[in-house]
Amino acid sequence: MHVLVLGAGQLARMMSLAGAPLNIEISAYDVTSGNIVHPLTQAVIGHGLDNAIEHADVITAEFEHIPHPILEVCEKSGKFLPSTQAIKAGGDRRLEKALLDNAGVRNAKYAVITTREDFTQAIEYVGMPMVLKSALGGYDGKGQWRLKESSQIDEIWQQMAQCIADSDNQAIVAEEFIPFQREVSLVGARGKDGAIAVYPLAENVHTNGVLSLSTAIADPALQEQAQQMFSAVAESLNYVGVLALEFFDLDGQLLVNEIAPRVHNSGHWTQQGAETCQFENHLRAVCGLPLGGTQLVRETAMVNILGEDTLPDAILSMPGCHIHWYGKEKRAGRKMGHINVCGGYSGELQRRLCALAAVLDAEAFPAIHEFAKKYAQ
Ligand code: ATP
Ligand code: MG
Repeated sequence: MHVLVLGAGQLARMMSLAGAPLNIEISAYDVTSGNIVHPLTQAVIGHGLDNAIEHADVITAEFEHIPHPILEVCEKSGKFLPSTQAIKAGGDRRLEKALLDNAGVRNAKYAVITTREDFTQAIEYVGMPMVLKSALGGYDGKGQWRLKESSQIDEIWQQMAQCIADSDNQAIVAEEFIPFQREVSLVGARGKDGAIAVYPLAENVHTNGVLSLSTAIADPALQEQAQQMFSAVAESLNYVGVLALEFFDLDGQLLVNEIAPRVHNSGHWTQQGAETCQFENHLRAVCGLPLGGTQLVRETAMVNILGEDTLPDAILSMPGCHIHWYGKEKRAGRKMGHINVCGGYSGELQRRLCALAAVLDAEAFPAIHEFAKKYAQ
């Protein structure tokens, strides 16, 4: 099987690594340059979307901010999965909110803003404090504002008005601020036959809007809620592939924050911690193969490597630690790789995270240091 991935980043790279044992070959289409590239070496192996599509049995995507004309060409080929509707909803918060409402899953109260009058009405309807997010193009906490008090309204409106003016079809989604205790996510797969397999929930810690630490957790009550919402969303889209739902945990009740119609950063722990990793399961799903087991095989957490391109060699000899580099050029804050940390029995994972924190720079890895500090108390 030959799978074409729209996007040539680390997710395509990890799909390629996971597909090889099943003889699933991956090429990546860089939507910006129009080049077809090798997902591991980034070597240019061809040009043009039509050419890329012709050589593919299946087309999928590693991100949701894909120009719609490209999506339409892919859809027409009849080879694209999960679906253009799912990708578009993942890339436009208006469509995403409507999708969540239609699927009947809990999410934060919201309003859509394109004018100053809309903003006034949204403040009335949603209330303060509120979180304001650009409808298009937002990721890693970018394109967001927090409105806490009336004195900020004018200044925030100026910035939002600029954002709306800067790109076609842009709007702002105003959401009520959710005073959650923690954030969790559910990654799962749905096959062509409608079979669903979900992983254990992951608890996620963000630093400056970017995921920094993600740990698989066992919480049967939350898992049940999350699974129901996952099925509702996946079935409403007739989804095929891996899908991620991000949630706020508010007093034991989950609300969906957003969806990602693809393999997800909070599912990277599955490479060492689950029977079948999310990348393999995504490929199995889109290729029409049976899904692999999603059960936890050992306790695992993932630490993102942000803006760093070297780590102490000592980590390679630390039990349970697995480094995954993405082969990217160093840039401040950029996702450069991740470390999966595993433990075989209760408490071992936590101790290994503390040992790892001790050899990592506190400024570059604040979340794991925070964890180690709390654990020591
Ligand atoms: P991602 O990289 O996950 O796609 P994003 O930029 O699309 O991120 P969100 O996930 O919507 O943005 O928001 C980033 C973070 O901001 C969330 O993980 C959460 O910590 C916080 N946040 C977002 N919406 C709310 C809300 N309504 N109430 C409270 N906190 C929020
Ligand atoms: Mg998010």
